[in-house]
Amino acid sequence: MENTSDNDDVIIRSRAQALEVLHNDIRSNKSTDNSIGLLVLKVMSLRDINTIFGYKTGDKFLIKFGTFIQSLLLAEDKVIRVGDNEFAIIIKTVFNSNHLLLAINKILKNLARPLQIENEQVYVKVSIGAAIYPEHAGHAEQFLMCSDAALGKAIEEGNKHAFYSKQDTFNGYSNLAISKELDGAIDNCELTLLYQPKVDLLRQRVCSAECLMRWTNHKIGFVPPDIFIPIAEKSGRIMDLTIWSLNVAFKQAQYLHKQWPDFQIAVNLSAAILHDPEIIQLIKRAMIIWSINPNKIILEVTESAMMSDPERSFEILQDLSNIGFNLSIDDFGTGHSSLAYLKRLPVDELKIDKSFVLEMATDIDDKTIVLAIIELAHSFKLKVTAEGIENTETMGMLTAMGCETAQGFHIAKPMTDKELEKFIQESEWSLPSDTRDHIKQEILDVGS
Ligand code: C2E
Ligand code: CA
Ligand code: CA
Repeated sequence: MENTSDNDDVIIRSRAQALEVLHNDIRSNKSTDNSIGLLVLKVMSLRDINTIFGYKTGDKFLIKFGTFIQSLLLAEDKVIRVGDNEFAIIIKTVFNSNHLLLAINKILKNLARPLQIENEQVYVKVSIGAAIYPEHAGHAEQFLMCSDAALGKAIEEGNKHAFYSKQDTFNGYSNLAISKELDGAIDNCELTLLYQPKVDLLRQRVCSAECLMRWTNHKIGFVPPDIFIPIAEKSGRIMDLTIWSLNVAFKQAQYLHKQWPDFQIAVNLSAAILHDPEIIQLIKRAMIIWSINPNKIILEVTESAMMSDPERSFEILQDLSNIGFNLSIDDFGTGHSSLAYLKRLPVDELKIDKSFVLEMATDIDDKTIVLAIIELAHSFKLKVTAEGIENTETMGMLTAMGCETAQGFHIAKPMTDKELEKFIQESEWSLPSDTRDHIKQEILDVGS
């Protein structure tokens, strides 16, 4: 490191300039069969260096560090500083991922030895995210995002390096970028709740609806809940989203209960929430604001969430049950419940995961599993909801098996609040309005 000169030319202090260099490299690469490698390297120990030596030394060190990395590479490769402690490293010619791995290993090997800062020998910890053009990205911006996403994965998993893979991004946006956008989702009114009706198979009437969150971001566009809910859980934003959904759902429930007092609304509670005792007070507050009878609310909690820390979940579920909420174990069959816990848990219902229901009309194994779950639930005096019903045959089989409640595209897809109201009034599963019956009765009483 001492041998390297303070050559600022190799270090461009801006992401925009890095993109321009990358863009030019991509353009000149188009006439060849070769690929380009892009590493984003983060100096993880910068804070320690700043604390020990001061910011001035820390800053000087970063300039030298960039030059040092450049000295390990070919002259055509470029090292560009793209953030306080981040460098983009463009490897101009790579043949495949193994070839890029050689460059990564060379960097890591050289950083396995201490570097000299002032008169001290210091080990510098780094994490590296790697992506390859054109395999992973079509243009410069996307290329940088892929390497960023890979870096995020390396850090999250505690590894020194990670290669980009498709699951690390959605529409080219990394989990980190999605998580940042989620920050403004509530304030920017980007969230909505849809409602998917559930039908009472015995009475052949709609009896409840499950609230399902939807998010359309001004930059990313529509992001499915399977993508953003896990990100919200990891980044600690799930509590705000849950409180938002509980309030919207309770408001809607209050409105519907005026006409259909027995109609139930189901809200999904995520795993992360179940380990935070604060949730009890927050739910109680929402219940008071919207004058909600907890008996008319079903809280759906996934089996895996309950089983990740059964003792802790048990306490919170017991509190929620004592308040009067109905509790349903969601995605049942996928989370390795122990029967001992099932007996103790204060739940009212098992909700069979759609993976067993979708094909049960043609797959004998799925049919056997569904029947076994229904019998198990009934032996514990629990009711059963099946989700993922896509055809008449499945509906008929579940009715014959004694399943109480059905939900699926065959009945209805998730819909808006206005559509739900119309569905309750006008669908083949319609529910007589208690208000109207009440008024009719009053008219009859007056007439007699
Ligand atoms: P989930 O709780 O298991 O919700 C049921 C999912 O199955 C919904 O997907 C629903 O649209 C889908 N579905 C229902 N019937 C059928 C069917 O017949 N066929 C098929 N193929 N799919 C069906 P969605 O809305 O995409 O939600 C996915 C997951 O995201 C939910 O799975 C839940 O885990 C999570 N999620 C959605 N909204 C919320 C929320 O407000 N809070 C939390 N914590 N999680 C939510
Ligand atoms: Ca659910
Ligand atoms: Ca489910």
